[in-house]
Amino acid sequence: MGHEMFKGGNGALDAHDVAGKTGRGDRRLGHDSTIAELQRKLAAAEARERRLRERLRVKDALARLGLAAEHVGDSIEFTDAQGIMQWVNPAYESLTGYTRDEVLGKTPAELLRSDAHPPEFYEEIWNTTSSGRIWKGLMTSRRKDGSEFTADCTLSPVLDDAGDVTSYMCLRRDVTAEVHERLELRSALSRYALAAAGANDGMWGWDLEQDEVLLSARWRLMLGYPPREFRGAPSEWLQQVHPDERSGLEERLKAHLDGATDHLECEYRIRHRDGGWRWMLCRGLAERGPDGKAARIAGSQADITRQKTAELRLRHEALHDALTGLPNRVLFEDRLEQSLLRAARHDDRRVAVLFVDLDKFKKINDSYGHAAGDRLLQEIGRRLQRALRSADTVARIGGDEFTVLIDAVRDQDEVDIIIGRIQEAIALPVLLAGANVVVSASIGMVLSRPDDRHPNDLLRDADTAMYQAKAAGRDRTVTFVPEMRAEVLGLVELEQELRAGMAAGQLRLHYQPIVSLPDRTVVGFEALVRWERPGFGLLLPGEFLHVAEEARLMDDLERWVLDAACNQIASWRLDGGLPAGAHVAVNISPKRLLQSTLLTQVEDALDRTGIPPHSLRLEITENSLLEDELAASAAVHALRGLGVRVCLDDFGTGYSSLAYIHRFSVDVLKIDRAFTAGLTKDAGSEAIVKAIVGMARGLGLEVVAEGVETEEQLERLIALGCDGAQGYLLGRPGGA
Ligand code: C2E
Ligand code: CA
Ligand code: CA
Repeated sequence: MGHEMFKGGNGALDAHDVAGKTGRGDRRLGHDSTIAELQRKLAAAEARERRLRERLRVKDALARLGLAAEHVGDSIEFTDAQGIMQWVNPAYESLTGYTRDEVLGKTPAELLRSDAHPPEFYEEIWNTTSSGRIWKGLMTSRRKDGSEFTADCTLSPVLDDAGDVTSYMCLRRDVTAEVHERLELRSALSRYALAAAGANDGMWGWDLEQDEVLLSARWRLMLGYPPREFRGAPSEWLQQVHPDERSGLEERLKAHLDGATDHLECEYRIRHRDGGWRWMLCRGLAERGPDGKAARIAGSQADITRQKTAELRLRHEALHDALTGLPNRVLFEDRLEQSLLRAARHDDRRVAVLFVDLDKFKKINDSYGHAAGDRLLQEIGRRLQRALRSADTVARIGGDEFTVLIDAVRDQDEVDIIIGRIQEAIALPVLLAGANVVVSASIGMVLSRPDDRHPNDLLRDADTAMYQAKAAGRDRTVTFVPEMRAEVLGLVELEQELRAGMAAGQLRLHYQPIVSLPDRTVVGFEALVRWERPGFGLLLPGEFLHVAEEARLMDDLERWVLDAACNQIASWRLDGGLPAGAHVAVNISPKRLLQSTLLTQVEDALDRTGIPPHSLRLEITENSLLEDELAASAAVHALRGLGVRVCLDDFGTGYSSLAYIHRFSVDVLKIDRAFTAGLTKDAGSEAIVKAIVGMARGLGLEVVAEGVETEEQLERLIALGCDGAQGYLLGRPGGA
């Protein structure tokens, strides 16, 4: 059996090991065909073993997750890959009214589907999850007794190592009450707003049966007309509204009159008698007859021109480049995201992104002066804009860097025509300080693929292609191909080297002490991975973790770290190298936290080494919680269920808030070293550390400050009541 073959080990690394040892043994035999056959057999056994283990792991993880799921308040259900219900927790039963036995063998659609959503809604969910992605959103469903509830749902496919869906997990958090409350509150507010319309607001009433409006004297005065009440056709009003906002007003009016909204609220520009436009905020509420049909609608209109222009100016400034007036990176990314979404709905539509970098701009700047450089950028911006179609976007995202979004193209030919126009436009001489200057640009181009969703990926690829254009001698356009990225970074070789290096046992763990405060005794260590790369010495995580990530080696790497750290704990416990009650902390990457295998691996490692669970800590980052809240919180919950402590790493750098921490119930906060560094320098850092410590105390959490480098910092931390500290002052990471 395969099991015997891999006794004592259970990772891909061990498999490499076995293969390596066998290889050496065979060489002694000196018989090539025997070697080949033996290796073939081994590989086959290995693959069988892997498949079997994967199946067991998935089953096991589900069972374990199930155990934790018995007790959580959120409803959890599992279906198989075909969507047939396999298991539900008690919270599901109380939410839906179905018992576990009643649901088995049925599909969620048969059980819960309500008319609240169109069929496309469910199709989209299925398309998302069956392609291996997580779907999140609000869903209204029907209980067994026919009543409806609204839940915040997270539907995650459970994938095996090959990326195939083996089952689906659905978490539902009942938010019916909150949704209802929000609607009630909104309608109360709108009535209040109407009652509280200011003395300066114009009032209006609209008799729908007579189709006649009544505009107050004030309403008319606001637009420069004699302050006399006016009674007449609604068109007198509507036709004065700016064409850009008129249909919006009409739509909202109709929606409210049809009963789709609980009040009317709309901002629009309206023509003043002086010919200019004024921004107005219009609010209204319909009066309905017993049949629910609106008979009259009345409301107020307030002049918000000042606020609106200020707001528009701020928004414009936030989204545009001050020098050229072109969109900036933020706006560009937003437009690109919209374009990608639209393209995803059409098979024959793609989006092209160009990265345009002027050649030798610095030289021009130096020889003609900054003012001339600025004028050149403005001129290039104008020319790029003229070379494009109106639906396209050109942005300035850095010094002499422009990006271009070409929306809704069918193929490369279409893009090539536009690129041709751009190149011609740039090549025309520019008059600078009395001289005709000719500039050129290096352009990187990428055409979106059907599954591209992230603006940043496309921008990065266009950037990469642009660098190739520079490298190839400037003044040209290069189209991105996937091999480019790997090539540029020399990643391919590095990946191979790392993979081989891991199999050859080149990973090391260094341990950095963590002390308790104020007494400064060592209470634990953080395990930090290193790669002893032949010819390069000891590489730090910053130098190779991204390679491991790209090469999909992260799982193996972290598995190795976990096992090695647990082994180290065990041997320290034997020789007294680890004080009683002390711990070793291991870092867990965001992706891994959400993998069902993590829980089993941690448990296996604890079982195998026999170390007490509290001697192991797992450090996760805030970002890993953001990705998929429910799944992350279930994972943290399950890990803590094993008795392992969970630390929130780099705390303060992400989006954490008090509520957040509470929701995820971790044990330890590790304050990011940026705050420690600021402690004795800026008041802001000090205030943050103080707040974190106070908050942690309230929640019963332990706080450890990272990156303590000076005695002064340590004293501040002690004064603030911090529980622990880690940093070069107290000990650098070192080999065990
Ligand atoms: P981290 O988890 O925030 O780890 C602390 C880092 O701060 C370590 O860098 C440590 O050497 C460094 N450090 C400690 N004290 C001081 C100090 O006083 N001043 C300064 N400037 N730095 C200090 P290292 O070892 O380079 O690790 C960098 C990051 O790599 C870690 O940040 C962690 O996110 C990641 N990492 C390390 N090992 C692993 C691992 O096994 N798995 C995963 N997923 N990530 C790891
Ligand atoms: Ca850490
Ligand atoms: Ca950290």
